[in-house]
Amino acid sequence: MSHPQDHLDLGALAMSSGEGRALDAPVRLDPLAFGGQTYSARGGDVQARIDLSRTSSGYSGRLRFQVALSGPCMRCLEEADRTVAVDAREIDQPGGDEETTSPYFEGTALDLRGWARDALALALPLQIICRDDCLGLCPVCGQNLNHAEPGHAHARAPGAGVVEDLPQEDARARGSLLVEGHQEAARALDPSARHGRQHGERHHGE
Ligand SMILES: [Zn+2]
Ligand SMILES: [Zn+2]
Repeated sequence: MSHPQDHLDLGALAMSSGEGRALDAPVRLDPLAFGGQTYSARGGDVQARIDLSRTSSGYSGRLRFQVALSGPCMRCLEEADRTVAVDAREIDQPGGDEETTSPYFEGTALDLRGWARDALALALPLQIICRDDCLGLCPVCGQNLNHAEPGHAHARAPGAGVVEDLPQEDARARGSLLVEGHQEAARALDPSARHGRQHGERHHGE
């Protein structure tokens, strides 16, 4: 890949009206902030296909490239390793209304870098994730649920008081926070439950 040029010299192409050209050129892709994360092209550059047509008073252009994005999965924060296909079109007809002028055609120069940056931003999926069924992080302990045991769950939020020590009403309120079916597991893990009232009562009864 040759060194990317930020601008393509349209004047040097010397295209006549009605003429079309297809060019392959390396384009520098700037890192992109998206969803609180930063994504960049692996290697920094992409090889782009640029189709240009000279119209009577301007140009129409098409920019296509594929980019392997380096950056985190928005759910689990591991490397997402996603490839995005970009296919963008622009028309530039100076003298026409705003809809037919392109910000990337600057006289006899085409701002490839700016066009590629904006076209990539528009082509991004709603979320960048490592795989469609990524399970994300556990909201309680932060563990990556893709690597956790199936059914990973917590009996209660960390920092919650010992259930048995709370007045009954509070205990009931706490109980509603417990993941259904995990109350018994919570008691088994709870040292105060092991040495607490139930245990004592059983000894008392012997
Ligand atoms: Zn993920
Ligand atoms: Zn967890």
